[in-house]
Amino acid sequence: MGYKADTSLPVNDAIYDIAIIGGGPTGLFASFYAGMRNMKTLLIEAMPELGGQLTFLYPDKFIYDVPGHPKVLAKHLVENLVAQGLQFRPTVILGERVSNVVKLGEKLFMIETDKGRYYSKTIVICAGIGAISPRRLGIPEVERFEGKGLYYVVTNKWEFKDRRVMIVGGGDTAVDWALNLQNIAKKVTLIHRRGQFRAHEASVIELFHSNVEVMVPYVVKSAQGDSALRKVTVMNLDTNEEEIKEVDALIPCLGFIVDNTVLKKWGLEMEGQSLLVNGRMETNVAGIYGAGDIAHESGSVKLNLICVGFAQAAIAVNVAKNYIDPSSSYFPGHSSERRF
Ligand SMILES: Cc1cc2nc3c(=O)[nH]c(=O)nc-3n(C[C@H](O)[C@H](O)[C@H](O)COP(=O)(O)OP(=O)(O)OC[C@H]3O[C@@H](n4cnc5c(N)ncnc54)[C@H](O)[C@@H]3O)c2cc1C
Repeated sequence: MGYKADTSLPVNDAIYDIAIIGGGPTGLFASFYAGMRNMKTLLIEAMPELGGQLTFLYPDKFIYDVPGHPKVLAKHLVENLVAQGLQFRPTVILGERVSNVVKLGEKLFMIETDKGRYYSKTIVICAGIGAISPRRLGIPEVERFEGKGLYYVVTNKWEFKDRRVMIVGGGDTAVDWALNLQNIAKKVTLIHRRGQFRAHEASVIELFHSNVEVMVPYVVKSAQGDSALRKVTVMNLDTNEEEIKEVDALIPCLGFIVDNTVLKKWGLEMEGQSLLVNGRMETNVAGIYGAGDIAHESGSVKLNLICVGFAQAAIAVNVAKNYIDPSSSYFPGHSSERRF
């Protein structure tokens, strides 16, 4: 299985009992169960933050169908899942996308990301709808400032204190960040290619009553700087006139794209975009399991719901535990009878 290994990648010698690919709700719950079963755990997430679709696609929406939560904001559910999922201190790798999985021998896999190589006895694929990545501006002379003034994901808003910030986009993320940063940054400019905004009406009204400089219909044309971003050239789409703005940070909020095409290269049986698993969450490769949105259990109804992923994660991890150590039972015992 897998394709040829990339021998130029840095090697991490530790051998994990279980590697979880994807840090969405399913992967986070799998991480909790793996810890509860005393498994040496590795969690790899392509994005710089955990939470999957909840973090990147609908952080401020309420969810009503998670058991035990009559109503919970997606981002608050993620906070709790992270607290629960990381309590046994798994190794967490953020911002690395798994590109290849190679079976090296009985109960030993090599996992390659775009930045490194890891070893594990078992793997649970919780890749959801695929690796989430931000939609890019696609202008090479702007992209070169990534990490030096160009930010596709905001992880710490205080990083922008007293800086001149330009945000690009017309959706909720763009408008929310503009409003959020207006009292932290020295100046906030929001540019959008259209006069209409997709963001919630109330937020747009707030925007036009705020200190944020709103420029429509404008697009980013180029960027200038030295070791860091200093200026951004924007163009008015009505007049084609260009303007240079002095900017320390450019934050495009253009949505996200998802990609799960890499899975097909790992020799795993797929059905359409889904990874085929049986009732034990096993794939066609012994030692590799699937759970959550990515998985399709043959013969069952596929429901892409958080609660389904939780149950599948619990099954996958407990079956993996028994696979590594056949003397251990599938049943993990009741967590209520443990002291953590
Ligand atoms: C707008 C919206 C509203 C929703 N509302 C609800 C609701 O009310 N109730 C409900 O139950 N469900 C809801 N859902 C569905 C729910 O969000 C999903 O069922 C859930 O997120 C699936 O979790 P997951 O962990 O399986 O996958 P995801 O949340 O997709 O997480 C998968 C993670 O894996 C990572 N990943 C993928 N490939 C790789 C790779 N190669 N290497 C490293 N990392 C990788 C991704 O970056 C991602 O972070 C909603 C979905 C959307 C879009």
